[in-house]
Amino acid sequence: MAKIPINISTGTIQQEEIIVGIDLGTTNSLIAVIHPDTKKAVALKEVDQQTIVPSIIHFGESISVGTDAKDYLLTDAHNTIYSIKRLMGKTYGDIENADYFSYKIIDNEQKELVKIQVGEKFYSPIELSSFILAELKQRAEHILKTNVSKCVITIPAYFNDAQRQATRDAGKLAGLEVLRIINEPTAASLAYGIGTDSSVEKNIAVYDLGGGTFDISILTISNGVFEVLSTNGDTYLGGDDFDKALFNKFVADLGLNEEELLANKELTQQLRLLSEEAKKVLSKADHFSSEFAGEKIVISKSEFEALILPIVNKTIDRCKSALQDSELTKKEIDVVVMVGGSTRTPLVQKMVADFFEQEVNTSVNPDEVVALGAAIQADILAGNTKDVLLLDVTPLSLGIETMGGLMDVLIPRNSKIPTQAGREYTTQKDGQSGMDIAVYQGERDLVSDNRKLASFKFSNIPGMPAGLPKVEIKFTLNADGILQVNAKELRSGVEQSIEVKPQYGLTDEEVEQMLMASLTNAKEDIGTRALVEASTEAEQLIMQTTDFLVKHKTFITDAEVAQTKEAIEAIKVAVNEKNKDLIQLKVEALNEISRPYAERVMDQAVANAMKGQQI
Ligand code: ADP
Ligand code: MG
Repeated sequence: MAKIPINISTGTIQQEEIIVGIDLGTTNSLIAVIHPDTKKAVALKEVDQQTIVPSIIHFGESISVGTDAKDYLLTDAHNTIYSIKRLMGKTYGDIENADYFSYKIIDNEQKELVKIQVGEKFYSPIELSSFILAELKQRAEHILKTNVSKCVITIPAYFNDAQRQATRDAGKLAGLEVLRIINEPTAASLAYGIGTDSSVEKNIAVYDLGGGTFDISILTISNGVFEVLSTNGDTYLGGDDFDKALFNKFVADLGLNEEELLANKELTQQLRLLSEEAKKVLSKADHFSSEFAGEKIVISKSEFEALILPIVNKTIDRCKSALQDSELTKKEIDVVVMVGGSTRTPLVQKMVADFFEQEVNTSVNPDEVVALGAAIQADILAGNTKDVLLLDVTPLSLGIETMGGLMDVLIPRNSKIPTQAGREYTTQKDGQSGMDIAVYQGERDLVSDNRKLASFKFSNIPGMPAGLPKVEIKFTLNADGILQVNAKELRSGVEQSIEVKPQYGLTDEEVEQMLMASLTNAKEDIGTRALVEASTEAEQLIMQTTDFLVKHKTFITDAEVAQTKEAIEAIKVAVNEKNKDLIQLKVEALNEISRPYAERVMDQAVANAMKGQQI
């Protein structure tokens, strides 16, 4: 028997609030909920029986989203926006394939987030994604006949802080409270019931081939905790490439002039749609036949498979790399989960099964599996399923800049999140009241080779001699991958904190590139770090010695002052020459010169201190 919650103060029946799961895809988006009666996750569908909403927005007299907007892709390309997910959290400098988009991306500042121009107006990817989310929200409200304001949204496992934050912001703009952002492969695993039993330990490979993107993720689950071991993929490879291969074959078979064809947009679109239809038919049948421009078109399944073999092979190469990075063997993979509409192609299923040497899971609808998992996660958050926690890892190290431009890592890459880390720092100068704190992401030893996420000035440190203040810098990385940086002077309790909302994002290629660079430059980096450390030390010694000469001039002879100045000059030359060994030699030389008078001053200080004191 179900309990009915009643609000005692008003005497009304309290509606349990629905939390929906949303798959905000590059090609298609959809929304799912836990069915109140069956308690199973279901994708919501309108009367048209379609669960899928194409992630397309058309700006006409009004704004339309989904299937209605898709029709304008060819007839009104400039005002029709697709693949917006590719632009989330990116700067113009991040966009690798600007030609891919038929709409206008504004190129004003390399480091600013991109904007899209539609007519006279400019939209951010966040705003555009919010239109899709708002449409999904409205759709859910219409179907469920209740208010929908809370959700879980899925994102690719490799999304960085900026992209996660952008997705959250899009939800907010659409009037949704985003309770959690979860990884698509994690959601897919949940939809297969993996992870809902906390006693199970499993290694899972999630193969996700969508319209224009491919992702392979290796996860492990133990004690009810998901962990991403590795991710790989190709952000420009998917089912669209199968369509293109067919399109090109049809053009050749029919002896069409490609230039002439492309000039006729309507005919081009017809052939494109026919290509996609052929692909879908060949997922079930052995032959496809149709007509185009009065000519007959035929293609067999084996001909189609020969066409797409090189494309599928590319994904298998990526699987190999992901498996290698996860440090697991094929035998150690317990489950292979297939996600994305393009995994309906039998050749894809066969090649993935061959690679992992086991059967692959295709029983849950590959279009819906991610949204269904998001709905299950929403149910967990609503408190209906206990004992499940979701965990991710951070793809790149996070740290701050220390003296000499060195990177001091607080949270190493691949740390499980949420996580916290702290370290103490101090001042370099007497009475120093402020400290510049710059936060970086990356694997290199010099911050200039890494990516700056944010910076702020920690001020109001009470006046103290150099080295005395204890400034604790604390990094808190939450479950959504958002970083909070807190600085606190422990003696005085003065405190300041910021939330890092990175100004720009990294593509997965860039993450890969940065990791590669850190490996190939490791040797050089060690040398650089040693040089920077020697130079910083030398500069500090020069500062201290110069101060000493002024403060204690009565104890030091003119000859000693001259010698000291000469030794300081020699150090400066060595620093300029970036010669670590020479710097160390010259530092030693200066120490030799200053030792006698430093000792004299010391003795005098001790004598002064003793004067008049009773022992
Ligand atoms: P995304 O995750 O990028 O939003 P989807 O998972 O929705 O994309 O996959 C969309 C792709 O799946 C399209 O290229 C579409 O043509 C393809 N697709 C859909 N149904 C089939 C099918 N029956 N056989 C082969 N491919 C299919
Ligand atoms: Mg998808």
